[in-house]
Amino acid sequence: MQETKEIYCNQCGKKLKMEHDILKEDAFEARKQWGYFSGKDAVLHSFVLCERCYDEMISHFKIPVKITEVTEI
Ligand SMILES: [Zn+2]
Repeated sequence: MQETKEIYCNQCGKKLKMEHDILKEDAFEARKQWGYFSGKDAVLHSFVLCERCYDEMISHFKIPVKITEVTEI
């Protein structure tokens, strides 16, 4: 039996489109393992943002994101 894992945007709670365990909707996936020099004592933080929430997040940046064109996907 195959279990379907569901992915939700952490910001707005929207369910992201999944088909056969493949994310069918592009989303921002972040993983950060906080280390010794952080105040977080070696824990892994991960979250997903839908494209709309990602755009919202980066719109608050003082310095815009670096954008590099990718020719191969
Ligand atoms: Zn969202």
